[in-house]
Amino acid sequence: MSAGSYAYSAVLMGSPILLKLFEHDEALAGRVFRLIKHQENLFTVNRAPSEVMAINHAAGLHPVVVSAPVYQLIKRASEVSTRAGSCFNFAIGPLVKRWKIGFHGNTVPPESELQALLALTDPHQVILDDAAQSVFLQQAGMEIDLGAIAKGYIADVVRDYLHQQQVTNALINLGGNVQTLGHPAQQAWGIGLKKPFAGPDALIGVIHVTHQSVVTSGVYERYFELAGRCYHHILDPRTGYPLDNELLSVTIISDDSIDGDIWTTLLYGLGVEKSLVCLQEMPHIEAIFVTRDGQVICSSQHKYRFTLLDDSYRVTG
Ligand code: ADP
Ligand code: MG
Ligand code: MG
Repeated sequence: MSAGSYAYSAVLMGSPILLKLFEHDEALAGRVFRLIKHQENLFTVNRAPSEVMAINHAAGLHPVVVSAPVYQLIKRASEVSTRAGSCFNFAIGPLVKRWKIGFHGNTVPPESELQALLALTDPHQVILDDAAQSVFLQQAGMEIDLGAIAKGYIADVVRDYLHQQQVTNALINLGGNVQTLGHPAQQAWGIGLKKPFAGPDALIGVIHVTHQSVVTSGVYERYFELAGRCYHHILDPRTGYPLDNELLSVTIISDDSIDGDIWTTLLYGLGVEKSLVCLQEMPHIEAIFVTRDGQVICSSQHKYRFTLLDDSYRVTG
């Protein structure tokens, strides 16, 4: 850790959370962790009390009025999910629940069951009413899941809160979602790029940024193995199975962590070639792809610098 920095940790949202400050301020760290807890309680689909769970419980029955932040996040998730060809689908809840990837009792569901559940994941059947600020799932059994976007949103909420508290240099790591303010003295932040399926501390390299979010989504984060196959937690909304392509991880460097969280999933679904074309249209988003054949493919490096540590990988792009 850099000189003069203070690290505070907690376990929230099922992940180890790390806050780094440059002044010793236990009280501030406590307020940040309470803020995260409060946000988690709005969005979780695993425990009451949560506004998202209230929506899911009313599926096929009636619309549920939610608070402004929950409505806004759902609206954003809906927009991303209903784009043509999008692999991001916030209505994927029934499949996520059935697969239980990363939780106890993993099995591969029978094909017929997956097909039946796919029929309950149409994002167009999530009806939003801006005037009433309500959300209605048209069919019984539908469930929204904000797992691919909520952490990014919350990381930005924490950044904005720290900014409001006059903190200029800090880092928050919500377990795969890192958001930074400023930078350590005379340096950039160094964010490790994890080596897939190696130990928790094994790194391919380091991503250097100042005042940026770095979000990584990887097949090695939550998965189980069965009969020589690896089943991970990012599902393909077209097939009902885990997304299967040349990628092991996608990292997004962006101002806002919500964009990073959304685009890791979207680019995962597109694969490297189409992603690189797509990224040319989006100067505010940069990406690093790790492929199964040991390549690290970096998009334009305006917002970050990448240093390779493990020379069994080749850097291209
Ligand atoms: P993490 O940061 O936990 O790795 P991601 O941002 O990669 O999470 O999102 C994965 C989570 O999003 C899954 O655990 C699940 O809850 C949900 N999810 C899985 N597949 C999709 C998908 N195709 N679209 C949207 N959400 C998904
Ligand atoms: Mg994430
Ligand atoms: Mg995500």
